[in-house]
This record gives sequence, C-alpha cells and structure tokens, in this order.
Amino acid sequence: MPLSPTATRELLDQLEHFPNKKLGQNFLVDGNIVRKSIELAEIGEGSHVVEIGPGLGTLTKAILSTGAELWAVERDATLAEHLRANVLPKQPSLHLIEGDCLDYPRAELPEDKATEGFRIVANLPYAVSTPWMDAVLSGELPERMVLMLQKEAGDRYAAPHGSKTFGGISIFLQSAYEVHSKHLVKAQCFHPAPKVDSVLLRLDRKEDAIRFSPAARDCVRRIFTQRRKQLGALCKRDSQAEALEWFEELVDQGVPKTIRPEALALEHWQALAEKLK
Ligand code: SAM
Repeated sequence: MPLSPTATRELLDQLEHFPNKKLGQNFLVDGNIVRKSIELAEIGEGSHVVEIGPGLGTLTKAILSTGAELWAVERDATLAEHLRANVLPKQPSLHLIEGDCLDYPRAELPEDKATEGFRIVANLPYAVSTPWMDAVLSGELPERMVLMLQKEAGDRYAAPHGSKTFGGISIFLQSAYEVHSKHLVKAQCFHPAPKVDSVLLRLDRKEDAIRFSPAARDCVRRIFTQRRKQLGALCKRDSQAEALEWFEELVDQGVPKTIRPEALALEHWQALAEKLK
C-alpha cells in the first residue's frame, strides 16, 4: 500500500528531502493506482520486471509483493540511500542501481533475462520519458510496459497519423506496441500534486514488432523537424538516397506527391525502416 500524503510528507521530512521538481518527484499516494498498475502488468513469480525511478519505494514494494524479480534505477542519491537502507535488506529479489535511466534504460537487467522476456512498470520522471522510451525501443523490447506518464507524452505516443502530435516517437512506438489501455490519473494521486495531467498507459508488444535502426530513426527525426513542409521536398533535401527512393515508391503506390509527414500512415514509415535496416 502506498503511504498517505501525510505519511509521505513525514517520511520526506525525516529524510530531510524536498521533492525535486526537475527530477519529477511526484510520489504515488493512491492505493487504487498502485493496484491498477500491478493488475495491468500481470506479473508474478518468475517475472522479470524493470522499474524506473523507484523513489520512496511505493510501486517497488507492490511489484516485489507479487513475487517478481525487480531491477530498478534511481537517480536521486538521498532516495537511493533510503531504498538501500530500508527496502533492499528485506527484498533479495530487488536489484537496485543508483544512476540515470538514460544510461541504464533497463536498469542493468541481465541480457539473458531480457531475452527470456521482461516487463517494465514505472511512474516515470516526466522530463526524460521520451528519450528513455527512445532508448528502450532501440534495445531488447519488453513484452509489456505499464507506465505513468505526462498526458501530453501519452497522447504523442498513441497519436494516429493525421493528428498534430503524430511524430517520430508515435511511429517508433506504434510499430512495436499496441496501446492496450489509457487511464487518466488525477493530480491528487501524487504528492506533491503535479501541475500537469497524467495517464497510466499499458503497452503490449506486437507479435510482428518492428524496430527502427539508428539510421531510420535519424531520418524520421530529420523529416519531422520540418513537419509542415512537403515530404517529397524533405526527402530530396535529405542526404540519404534511400529516403528519396522510398518517397518515389510511395508516390507510385498512389500516395499524393504533396503529402506532409504527419499525414503519412504508419505502414509507409515502416517501409522506410525496412529500407534503412
Ligand atoms: N516510483 C515512485 C512513485 O511512484 O512514488 C517515484 C516516481 S517519481 C514520478 C519519479 C522518480 O524518478 C523519482 O524518484 C526521481 O528521483 C526519479 N528520477 C528522476 N530522473 C531520473 C533519471 N534520469 N533516472 C532515474 N531516476 C530518475
């Protein structure tokens, strides 16, 4: 069970720790959301789980109580020390590292466990959620992710083509994952309450998940830096011959020459991934 807002405040006082805004320190204080995250994750004995930003250990303890083995990475030195002193000694299934999730996107989950299959359950630090997601999508893919995110990021991840928020991360994510569910989460579920809206997202890996190579990702990103321009002009300007070839093939298939990047459907972007493997 998570700590109540009062107990969270008291624990933070005891640790002489003031929640760090830059590190997105909004701690979960709502039992229903913790339960919902565990329910959606469907984890238990034998599961390998990764958590980003365990903080005071609320979600961490709930994950461990299912019998799962957990790898977690926390950047804040005070919180990492609190976890080492108070959670780690009672939890042999917890592997905790102090560091940045952008350096350890899978919290040093061993390679053999990653290939056997793993899940990620996290209340993410919002400021780094997209670069972290980018790193996750370029490695061994988790079978499932249950993530608390800033609503705006969740909207971008799940954006359909044709919408203003459709971009690189929507393409990379949706090529590998199905958005199974998306729940709005109120600010009062956290202490301190964030000023932005949050969503709890469950993402299930597709059977035919497609991963974009670094070259394909760079190409897509370059294109989306000028999303209002026509795709053909952007491909012409791109230094990669493959991009132009891809665009010409799209036109042969009936895609309008004047199409803009955000209007192009996912399957066409996946053809670019195939070209720039
Ligand atoms: N899991 C806790 C919970 O649900 O109450 C805390 C979640 S809080 C939204 C985000 C956590 O991520 C904080 O503990 C913060 O210190 C940590 N954090 C922030 N940036 C990080 C980074 N780059 N790498 C690892 N942890 C980070």
